[in-house]
Amino acid sequence: MENIIDEIFGKISAELLRAESKFPWWPFDPLHAHAIVAEEFGELAKACVDFRFEHVERTTATSRMEKEAIQAAAMCVRFLIGIGHYKTRGDDPAPIIYIKTEGEK
Ligand SMILES: [Mg+2]
Repeated sequence: MENIIDEIFGKISAELLRAESKFPWWPFDPLHAHAIVAEEFGELAKACVDFRFEHVERTTATSRMEKEAIQAAAMCVRFLIGIGHYKTRGDDPAPIIYIKTEGEK
């Protein structure tokens, strides 16, 4: 069991390093950071749908699910790395952009 856990964490760690190298910046806004995490979970969901319902070859579909689960986990780790750095509405200067939606006049 430890071997599989070590293997999985090793893959997550490698993906984290790859992602940080390719995209060194991470949002200061946790909602944007969350969107990146959610995007990866969306890709995992699609891979699962393909596995279960589409005519994707089993090995290929399994490989896609594994890849997307690892990417989602790596983005969760990035989210956690950012925990102490996210800006709130009260932080100044926090360039969080709000759009006023008071209706057209
Ligand atoms: Mg992905």
